[in-house]
Parts: sequence; structure tokens; C-alpha cells
Amino acid sequence: MQLRHSFFQHLAQTSPEPMALEISRAAGNYLYDAEGKAYIDLIGGISVCNVGHCHPKVVEAIKNQTEQYLHVMVYGETIQSPQVKYAEWLVQHLPASLNSVYFTNSGTEATEGAMKLAKRVTGKTNFISCVNSYHGHTQGALSVMGTEIWKNNFRPLLPGCFTAAYNEDAILDIINPQTAAVIIEPIQAESGVIKARKEWLKKIRDKCNDTGTLLIFDEIQSGFGRSGTLWAMEQYDIVPDILLLGKALGGGMPMGAFIADKKLMDCLSHHPILGHLTTFGGHPVCCTAGLAAAEALLQENMMEGIREKEQLFHTLLQHALIHNINSAGLWMAIELDSFETTIKVVQYGMTNGVFTDWFLFASNCLRIAPPLTIGEEEIKKACAIIINALDEIQK
Ligand code: PMP
Repeated sequence: MQLRHSFFQHLAQTSPEPMALEISRAAGNYLYDAEGKAYIDLIGGISVCNVGHCHPKVVEAIKNQTEQYLHVMVYGETIQSPQVKYAEWLVQHLPASLNSVYFTNSGTEATEGAMKLAKRVTGKTNFISCVNSYHGHTQGALSVMGTEIWKNNFRPLLPGCFTAAYNEDAILDIINPQTAAVIIEPIQAESGVIKARKEWLKKIRDKCNDTGTLLIFDEIQSGFGRSGTLWAMEQYDIVPDILLLGKALGGGMPMGAFIADKKLMDCLSHHPILGHLTTFGGHPVCCTAGLAAAEALLQENMMEGIREKEQLFHTLLQHALIHNINSAGLWMAIELDSFETTIKVVQYGMTNGVFTDWFLFASNCLRIAPPLTIGEEEIKKACAIIINALDEIQK
């Protein structure tokens, strides 16, 4: 009770009614509350815990690193093997032109760094993003957020930022020689898992090439197997100039990264020297945890069976109150009629041992983004609870 009281008294709140579930531990596909009650985690820390909570190899890697060193020096000046090894792994699993990694502390900071890099490389200052895109909440990232709701009360933001509808060709008319970069999620997350049309992305890539504009892909939420392939961009066969990663990148530890060709990235080392700095970016414990998670993802074949699991959700989640399901691998938006219905399902789930929530720009959609390790039985159990919730609501 005391902890709960202090949570509301002394921890900054971001919503009037937080879920306020008291977590005592988490392992694999489950969260456990203070009474030891288990919850199937259907959202994986919002697309973070792709390899499951506290994967033993991640925990072991963290323990080993804490016995060697923690923070030693601000990012970029000393050779720290966890950073170098993780950068090597990333580069080996990315297209050849994405070969230089700048580690940050979060996804938002990856967006910020990429925007600065785009300005520095092109000498231009305008940005284009899409309606209902989410790239982070600091003031640069907020400037390219695709909705007014979260921007209005925080203006002035960056000038020269324009938004265009996702998947519509009108964006091509506003990409021009003044545009430093177009920033796009190949699969839009917070609008409710919307896939880009391949042809549309291809036209944007071509227009960027024509106008000397950089293309930034935000794979902060779609990366690390979430959409069924290691990167969502593999499904499009299009390579961006800058890639943003975060969330699952740290295997449960806080991390982000922006990744580009070394020729571009080297711009940050002169005019001015130290063109982008972070004290903690690429923290050795986070890098070692991230690498262990990335290796486990591939070595333990966690992406195998994603399509079957996705299909199982579709088969089981059939109900008069479900209007539609958007999905990309183990990442789905279950469209209901209203935010009120979504909240009722979330609350029913909490009572009955399933943890889920909604999407920022699609509050009538239930979020499903479990650890990729979720099993068939857990999917069946979780779906049965969701269907029961909808039956109750329908009564
Ligand atoms: N981009 C996308 C697509 C995201 O989903 C998020 C986080 N929800 C961010 C950027 C920002 O990442 P972070 O919260 O780590 O700053």
C-alpha cells in the first residue's frame, strides 16, 4: 500500500489513471505482481522484450559486464569491446551502406541524432514526416510527430517540418531540394500497425535521390523480428540513408542507435568537432545485453513460427465486436468500436491474467506485441480471455 501511495505521490505521472500494476518480477512471457499472480505479457514492454523477459543469456551477459566495468568515459573516445562487438553484429546484419553505428540512450535520441546528421550532411533544414507517425517526444522528435494533439501545447517547435498522409502519393509533391530528410516508419506503429505500400516507399526513395534528400527509416518498434523478418525494410527491398533502432535493441536495457554510411557519419567529427555528444550512449552494460539478446534471437530461431502464431491470433480473435485486425508478424492492432471498449478489455485482462494496452494514435485498438517466444498455449489462453471480455461487454 505504501509503495502504491508513494507511486502516486512522488513519481511523475503521465496519465490520470495509470495501470498501476505492481511488478515484482518478470520472466519469459510473463509478468508477476506483488501477490505473485502471473500475467501473460501481450505487449512485451511495448515491443522491447522480443526475446522474453530476463532471457538467461542476457542476464548472464549483464552480470559478466558489471564485473568488468560500468561507465568509464563519454561515448566515442575509448575503445569498449561491448560497443564495438555490438556495432559489428548490427553492421553484419544490415545492408552494406549502413555500416557506422552511433549508440544513444533511447529511440527518441536516435531520432534527434539522425535529424542533426541529416542537416549536417545536406546543409538543409526541412523535414517531412507522416500523419500519425511517432518518432519520440523530445522537441526535435516532437517536431516530426504526425499529430497535433501532442504538439500544440509545446510550440514553438522546429520550423520547416511538414507532414503528409501515409501511403499517399501527395508526399512526393512536397519533397523538394530544400528537404533535408524524409522520416518514415516502414510499418507505422502507433497508428495501429499500418504497412507502407511497397511502390509508395520506392517512389519516395527515388524522389529523395532526385532532390538530394536523405531517407530515414524508423525501425525502433519494427526491428528485431517484430514484423516477421529481422528488419521490416527487408520486406520492401529499400535501403534508407539512416536507420533508427531502439526498444528491443537493448534486450531490455535502455538503448537507441542511428546507423548510416561512415562517409555520412564522419561529418559529426568535424565542423564542429564533437558534432553530437552523449555521456551514456552505448553504455557497456546495455550493449552487452543487446548483443546477447540479438544473438539469442537468431541462435534460438525465435523468428521461426511467427507467421503461424500471427495466423493463430487471427483465427482465435473472431468476435462481433472486433471490426478488423491489422498485423505484421507478432504485432497487431485489434480494432474495436471505441476507446471505452478497449479499456474494458484491458481491465478484464488485468483481472484475468493478461497484460495489454492500446495504441497512442488508435485508442480503439488493442495492442498485441508479445515476446516472440510466446507459445501456442499462451496465445490460446490469452485470446480466450480477450473473447470472454468482449462477450461480457456485449451482454
Ligand atoms: N519511434 C517509434 C516508432 C517508437 O515506437 C518509439 C517509442 N514508442 C520511439 C521512436 C521513441 O523511442 P523512445 O521511447 O525509446 O525514446
